[in-house]
Amino acid sequence: MAVPARRTSKTTKRMRRTHFKLHVTGLAKCANCGAMVKAHQVCPECGYYNGKKVVDVKNAK
Ligand SMILES: [Zn+2]
Repeated sequence: MAVPARRTSKTTKRMRRTHFKLHVTGLAKCANCGAMVKAHQVCPECGYYNGKKVVDVKNAK
């Protein structure tokens, strides 16, 4: 099994890890109200999906 020739320095390790970050995926903007909603799901703010009202939302603004 291959073994690293030398120890990775603190700086090299930290520079590599600058790319380790969390990112939010699957969010889209509601076409009706503009809220950020999960893709392919009914908007929880206004109850619209694909340009039509699908669900009655009680706390609609
Ligand atoms: Zn909406």
